[in-house]
Amino acid sequence: MQKFNTKNIVSKFDFTEYQASRAGSDNLDVLNPYNNELILSLTSDSLATTAEKIDRMDLYRKNETNLSITDRGYLLEKWYLKIMENKNSLGELIVLEQGKPLSEAISEVEYGGAFIKWYSEEGRRIKGDLLESPYLEREFLVRRQPVGLVATITPWNFPLAMFARKASAALAAGCSVITKPAEDTPLTTLAMLSLAREIGLKKEILDVVIVPRSRVSDIGKLLCTNKKISKISFTGSTTVGKQLVLQGAGNLQKFSLELGGNAPFIIREDCDLNLACDELILSKFRNAGQTCVCANRIFVNSRILNDFLPLFLDKVRTIKTGPGLDADAQMGPLINEEAATRYRALISDLRKSGANFVYQNEKSERGLIFAPTVAIASTTDTRAFYEEIFGPLAVIYKFESDEQAIKHSNATNYGLASYLFTDCRHAIKKYTKLLDFGIVCVNAGTFSNSVAPFGGLKESGMGREGGSYGLEEFLETKFISIK
Ligand code: ADP
Repeated sequence: MQKFNTKNIVSKFDFTEYQASRAGSDNLDVLNPYNNELILSLTSDSLATTAEKIDRMDLYRKNETNLSITDRGYLLEKWYLKIMENKNSLGELIVLEQGKPLSEAISEVEYGGAFIKWYSEEGRRIKGDLLESPYLEREFLVRRQPVGLVATITPWNFPLAMFARKASAALAAGCSVITKPAEDTPLTTLAMLSLAREIGLKKEILDVVIVPRSRVSDIGKLLCTNKKISKISFTGSTTVGKQLVLQGAGNLQKFSLELGGNAPFIIREDCDLNLACDELILSKFRNAGQTCVCANRIFVNSRILNDFLPLFLDKVRTIKTGPGLDADAQMGPLINEEAATRYRALISDLRKSGANFVYQNEKSERGLIFAPTVAIASTTDTRAFYEEIFGPLAVIYKFESDEQAIKHSNATNYGLASYLFTDCRHAIKKYTKLLDFGIVCVNAGTFSNSVAPFGGLKESGMGREGGSYGLEEFLETKFISIK
């Protein structure tokens, strides 16, 4: 741990534009969730400076010739290489402000980087159409063009990947991007921006606004209502997503929304149980359970519950908690006190419902670090069943039949990720058809990839990120009729 010193980690990147030289009530203090130490105090943007940035970016789009597809691809490729050169330093910075273990943070850098690399190549495949016109004297063309200036609003759980996933697709499509990182984790975005500057990505094409908690909703409103912003790409809670849509309704703002999830993790009686348990550990406890695709409701066939439980608990017992920079740590702290309070309330609600807590308890081990907790539910009428848990609590529900497992899985307003473990081909066909989720992952606990569409049904959002589907989100279709 000694070699990891906050100053050293921060010194690897250029934060001068935002680093506050003195205390200010408008400053955004970035804290380490492991020990609550101040990492850096940042100056912040006001409504006026945000509007100025939007104006400057808009003017640039209008006055300058936009970058050619080749130049865009080239810049994205250079950005990707720069990020990979700084992979470990970026990972350490993520750990510092977000708390996840270093190995997970480095994987996040690789995962986020993969999108930039993929879109650096994909932009050149954007193509229009020449239609066979029904009139001899007319030509019908279809042109795909960038939507324009995009605002991205990102969460704290994957501060690098969520920004990279949105920005790279938007830039590849020919858009400009103004991004607003989460208040808990702005440093990773600023570090990515400083690397972008080094390779020549200009402020006029990719910029950031740093917003303290007190001004988030005002700036959010500005982004939704400013007519120079053509699209909002948001990842965060369903509540805030709905609020943004309402704010943008007046000017029919366009949205891509990646909102909450409530993933079922279904374990049938005929699966490889050891594999299911290993993958469940990954899916449930990654990032201390703070991902929108984490296993949220674990459905186990009642016939195998007695085989499943000891196997799963043996694996849970091996999970080591600690500071993310500690080589042994597999699970770090929750992000902040508010998250911890909500998590405790959810556990207490579950306890009151009569659930059988078979492992650990809700007490924090140290500060915001919580040990894994496992409970067998006695009812589905609990907050843990209907809400995103966002903490290391595994809740198990018994099921008797496929129909029951599917019905319970779909009994949620969310529809992002779902998981199924079985060796039966017929069951795979049935579940993949009937599960109301944007993603069905069979016999694995992770699936995210730069080539594949990520996104949800129902109140989990609209639009997709990743692959050619992600590029579509930032393109408009123009029909040109020439006589
Ligand atoms: P979480 O519950 O995961 O923190 P949020 O939806 O609160 O999710 O936050 C996700 C992102 O949305 C963050 O960047 C946060 O600053 C931003 N955000 C929160 N409230 C608003 C708002 N009213 N307008 C615009 N952005 C917001």
